[in-house]
Amino acid sequence: MENLTMEKIVNLCKQYGFVFPGSEIYDGFANTWDFGPVGNELKKNIKNAWWKRFVQEDMNTYGVDASILMNPKVWEASGHVASFSDPKMDCKKCKQRFRADNLIEEFDSTVAAEGMTNEEMEKFIDDNNIKCPNCGSKDWSEIKQFKLMFETSRGTVEGNKDSVYLRPETCQGEYVNFLNVQRTARAKIPFAIAQIGKSFRNEITPGNFLFRTIEFEQMELQKFCKEDDSFNIYEDYKKRALEFVKDLGLDADKLRYHDHDKLAHYAKAACDIQYKFPIGWEELNGIHHRGTWDLSRHSEFSGKSMEYLDPETNEKYIPNVIEYSIGADRLTLAILCNSYEEETLENDTREVMHFHPAIAPYKVAILPLVKKYHTDKAKEVFNMLSKYFMCTYDETGSIGKRYRREDVIGTPYCITIDDETLNNNTVTIRDRDTMNQITLSLDDVKDYIEDKIRF
Ligand SMILES: [Zn+2]
Repeated sequence: MENLTMEKIVNLCKQYGFVFPGSEIYDGFANTWDFGPVGNELKKNIKNAWWKRFVQEDMNTYGVDASILMNPKVWEASGHVASFSDPKMDCKKCKQRFRADNLIEEFDSTVAAEGMTNEEMEKFIDDNNIKCPNCGSKDWSEIKQFKLMFETSRGTVEGNKDSVYLRPETCQGEYVNFLNVQRTARAKIPFAIAQIGKSFRNEITPGNFLFRTIEFEQMELQKFCKEDDSFNIYEDYKKRALEFVKDLGLDADKLRYHDHDKLAHYAKAACDIQYKFPIGWEELNGIHHRGTWDLSRHSEFSGKSMEYLDPETNEKYIPNVIEYSIGADRLTLAILCNSYEEETLENDTREVMHFHPAIAPYKVAILPLVKKYHTDKAKEVFNMLSKYFMCTYDETGSIGKRYRREDVIGTPYCITIDDETLNNNTVTIRDRDTMNQITLSLDDVKDYIEDKIRF
């Protein structure tokens, strides 16, 4: 829908059970959100669709589920301990905290603050009289580097506390298992290791709902390959990543590639796919050519050789890595924004979520036409179909009202149980998008739905 605001989506999510503010009865907790009954199903289905496409259907991709807490040396090798931080400034008047680089880039989008030192940033902010976006004051603290990793401690001996970190990215779990997976799966290069899991970043941001949260779920894979093949594989994942989000239903005209001009020192190429969120064009996922950086660093820091021995040529080398990573929460937000429509009907309006049936929270709503007569049969149908897919049951209010409730949570099919069901074993199935109804024998319903919800 055009002119959709983030506020509208946040309210709708809260009202219909997609997403609630985290710890809401305690007035919330900034940049945390809890998925409700409907949103939890949606996000789970999105993760399953990604896993199916990139792991199940790919002969050379292997899944892992690594620990969130890792040996702290991992984060030394990855460079996070030394340099994973943001430059922060406090407004001394209103006590709000801001990222200095954001203040500069919002003031002048042509300036690249990333390459500036703290002193240069302080000078720029002072020279240009950049004010606090919250209160308009110019009383800034000096810039401090604010660590982005959540640190906790593991005290096995009293008084002796060792720092451990909540992982800020999932990919290290794949790198450290490169040898294990290669050996046990007898994997030949090129192959990928994939993972879906939580990451944590202690960011101070305006949030923007699910777009940026301090705890988030990543879906990503690392493809290990020979340098000669690496750019082809990089281009291949750019294509596949775009196809995937289009197949999930995101509008093609709201998607674009964004190649990076500035690269991390070790990277050979990097590209985002951006989606046009209500807040503007923003990164949806990344595809990065990381060279041999990650495995080389782990070789160095762990003292274990991360070389691959080519069984055919007997060549030994450290593989290149192509990374493809997409945030499950962020993709869920894009799907919510993209699917929502306020539709004008003949004598009515309706709110509807046009989810691809494969990711819709409920596939089918089972609605007894008259509570008094059709409830028992309807419950029987629920018990039958819920063995195969998520169903919901609703016996309250007029059929029209019940359809509207299912439309707004994106249920693709509503099955009405009426006298025809009792007498002839048939049901009417109503399609969410066309609102057309067909009559089907109850025996055929399961196959009919299963065929429609395939991804
Ligand atoms: Zn202020």
